[in-house]
Amino acid sequence: MGSRADFHTHSTFSDGVLTPTELIELAYRRGVRVMSLTDHDTTEGLPEAFAATARHPDLMLIPGIEMSTDVPGAEVHILGHFIDWENEAFQQELARLRESRLGRARKMVEKLAQLGKPVTWERVQEISSEGAVGRPHIARALVEAGHVASVNEAFDLYLSRNGPAYVERERLTPRQVVELLLSVGGLSTLAHPRDLDHLDDLLAELKDAGLVGMEVYYQDYRPQQIQRLRALADRLGLLPLGGSDYHGLGGPQQREPGDIPLPMEPVERLLALARERGALERARTTGGR
Ligand code: AMP
Ligand code: ZN
Ligand code: FE
Ligand code: FE
Repeated sequence: MGSRADFHTHSTFSDGVLTPTELIELAYRRGVRVMSLTDHDTTEGLPEAFAATARHPDLMLIPGIEMSTDVPGAEVHILGHFIDWENEAFQQELARLRESRLGRARKMVEKLAQLGKPVTWERVQEISSEGAVGRPHIARALVEAGHVASVNEAFDLYLSRNGPAYVERERLTPRQVVELLLSVGGLSTLAHPRDLDHLDDLLAELKDAGLVGMEVYYQDYRPQQIQRLRALADRLGLLPLGGSDYHGLGGPQQREPGDIPLPMEPVERLLALARERGALERARTTGGR
């Protein structure tokens, strides 16, 4: 079953495999009409993505980003939608975060060499090309070098948070990210929350900072899990949103753009909220709405 909306996708400007143009084309072909490009710590894919929507006047593209944050022992990712991404101070902060990704990726490559699973830094850089470098790029280098059979296996054996090649990087706290996104008019949503401990507490704190939604419809989330998250979102007054988190990397949990059971009702509520805050105009459509 497909949705007409998808608020979470990646391109070659971070760790996705499709260019923004290819991503837009694929999503459009699949029936998506409201979508956001949410690359990790970068908005540099947005000009190309917006240019690609010119061919599709009935597609709404929302400028977005995904930011990683730090809480003890877990990864918390926060999506920002309708951001005023051209803001200079915001771009400086993103540049600083991407810089810390580089040093950290180099360290992971060094650790892999020590583990007897060498990949070259040059190759990792080639794979990440213009994108913000991340673990999926290193995972792909590991597959190419024949050390593992798949990207998933690279994470399972080496790159997951508890893996032997993992290196921390500089991150903001979840609250800092919600505040940063709010400072550029962004509406923030907690990404893939299913496996987070103390989710209630985290959500309460972030709602206080300005969080407006959480992902409820995501990749392989099962109906029962969706129901639990939906009830939690409703109870806390958060919009039950969702996305495919499409990277194009394959793997059993991957979904195609729009391949999530996200209903249009919360989508309309998000658009209404964006309109109320004067942020809707940052999503460009040439026609339609
Ligand atoms: P990074 O931003 O470098 O910390 O890498 C995080 C990204 O790696 C996530 O956004 C996912 O796209 C990907 N990732 C994390 N865990 C896994 C996993 N177990 N299998 C495949 N991809 C993963
Ligand atoms: Zn990613
Ligand atoms: Fe994420
Ligand atoms: Fe993502």
